Amino acid sequence: MNYNTHNSDCRMSNVKFVRGVVGDDSILEEDKPNIVVAGRSNAGKSSVINRLLGGQFAHTSSTPGKTQEINFFSIDDNAYLVDLPGYGYAKLSAARAEKLRKQMIWYLARSGAPIKLLILVLDVRRGSKGLDRDLLDIAAGEGISVVIVANKIDKCNQKERVAALRSLAEDVTSHPETVKQVLPFSAAKGTGRDELCKIIKSIYAN
Ligand code: GDP
Repeated sequence: MNYNTHNSDCRMSNVKFVRGVVGDDSILEEDKPNIVVAGRSNAGKSSVINRLLGGQFAHTSSTPGKTQEINFFSIDDNAYLVDLPGYGYAKLSAARAEKLRKQMIWYLARSGAPIKLLILVLDVRRGSKGLDRDLLDIAAGEGISVVIVANKIDKCNQKERVAALRSLAEDVTSHPETVKQVLPFSAAKGTGRDELCKIIKSIYAN
């Protein structure tokens, strides 16, 4: 995919991969806001991150289940965009899936990282299920705001789009305080990219 953002009116500057962590790390103690991106494998999490950052930063899922690291990207010298490992690979063993789940819960609820926003990437045609819903519950419990990125909207015609967004909105009514927005998105076309960029910047802009 071409992630060029020349025509965008919201830019992220100085985007740098810092490191991947698997447990305790000094980066978690820094007071830069952590903006976290999570999603089921194949929902398009990596494509959303790359579209947002304007380059090939996150690895798209050619090797499902391989990465268990929590990847930190520095953005605008002011914040970290945090890429959680994708979950829900059919081929992952139960033991590894459980390890992954525990790692995400640890980071979100116990690591002490200053998490300001959880961006949950969903395939708009598939809605939320399983761990997607667990993450919403955890965010609600921790007082973390959530933006749902309803990705692959380009795959829907107008009628499907209305139906899919309606059913997604119903999916998330259990957490009205937590879910701030359901954002129609296409990593392929760039739809919703600037709005997501602005939401993120509003967190650390003075
Ligand atoms: P991840 O496993 O969640 O990181 O998903 P990837 O970013 O690797 O994307 C999975 C597949 O969906 C790839 O073939 C992408 O090209 C495709 N994809 C991702 N986002 C979109 C989108 O917005 N529209 C379309 N049509 N395809 C997408």
